Amino acid sequence: MSKLYSVLRLKCPRCHKGDLFVHKNPYSFKNAMQMPDRCPVCNQDFQIEPGFYIGALWTSFPIVIFIMAILSIVLLIYFKMDLNWFFVTITAILFLLQPIIIRLGRAIWINVFVDFEKEK
Ligand SMILES: [Zn+2]
Repeated sequence: MSKLYSVLRLKCPRCHKGDLFVHKNPYSFKNAMQMPDRCPVCNQDFQIEPGFYIGALWTSFPIVIFIMAILSIVLLIYFKMDLNWFFVTITAILFLLQPIIIRLGRAIWINVFVDFEKEK
């Protein structure tokens, strides 16, 4: 449950206070993925090893599959959308959601390695 909080709020997995990303807005294209090296609150290392977030591809991928599954059901079955339009729509939506998906993927990924610690 506490991990879910950290992921959805994009907070530090250890203290749940520091922000994982420097900028709140995922659509500030220039530095949307910029993360501090360490948590500003508890000093947890956010760059656990070089290239740490390459592994986050494994956590963003299931999110993409999940969104595609939901969209397929809604668009194809509920709205009976034409297949060509469906692919155009799904590509556009996934493209627009990309910054959010990457952020969530990274938040999940660091939560796999770092656990919540209550303040001493
Ligand atoms: Zn922290």
